[in-house]
Amino acid sequence: MKVTIVGCSGSYPGPDSPASCYLIEADGFRMLLDFGSGSLGALQRHIGLYDVDAICLTHLHADHCLDVCGYHVVRTYGPAAPYPIVPIYAPADAPRRLAAAYGMPDEPGLETAFDFVPLEPGSFEIGPFSLTAGLVNHPVEAYGFRVTGDGRSVAYSGDTGESNELVKLAAGADLLLCEASFVERPGLPPGLHLTGRQAAEHAAKADVGRLVLTHLVPWNDQATVLREASEGGFGGPLELARSGAVYDLA
Ligand SMILES: [Zn+2]
Ligand SMILES: [Zn+2]
Repeated sequence: MKVTIVGCSGSYPGPDSPASCYLIEADGFRMLLDFGSGSLGALQRHIGLYDVDAICLTHLHADHCLDVCGYHVVRTYGPAAPYPIVPIYAPADAPRRLAAAYGMPDEPGLETAFDFVPLEPGSFEIGPFSLTAGLVNHPVEAYGFRVTGDGRSVAYSGDTGESNELVKLAAGADLLLCEASFVERPGLPPGLHLTGRQAAEHAAKADVGRLVLTHLVPWNDQATVLREASEGGFGGPLELARSGAVYDLA
């Protein structure tokens, strides 16, 4: 299984990265975890424009889903359209919300390009992968994911505050992509995001092989995020996400 960080900027695109998007590949199957603002552009550095086989959205905040709108144009009006319908696994409100973002009535919405499958907690198969979705700790319906394929596993926090569910999803995973949106300060709101230290604490409890800090908000000093994570008790490899980084878990 190959994991490519397409976008890792938290909450909005930064100068060096789009918002959240991760490309997971195995056996020629290409799946996106989140499709945030700006990521459709950077995605084309890694795969062909029409090569996406499935999309999974952790939640419906703009920085995790808005490039579905641009991709609807690609697959509905591209030169060889129509292209095969792509499944989008997402919170149940996604068809209505994304049609509204695009400026389309609910019927037909974006269904000329996509088949929306409502997410709920549990495990199911997508192509060669087994995906487990679990509800995490964020102000809207939000999932963390664990994707297993080729005997390897990657876990992805989505957006979350402290979450036992995230520890369960990540247990023993080869790689944890964990958000670290906050730097430490008094009065951080609960149930929203993690600090680097908290991300590392989750990684340590889950005993993952490698921790990559992501959803990095451009207004933060990233060296501080990394330093705080280094104090979180996780003994394995630990680094900041970078757009374009590839992790080959084979
Ligand atoms: Zn976010
Ligand atoms: Zn969010």
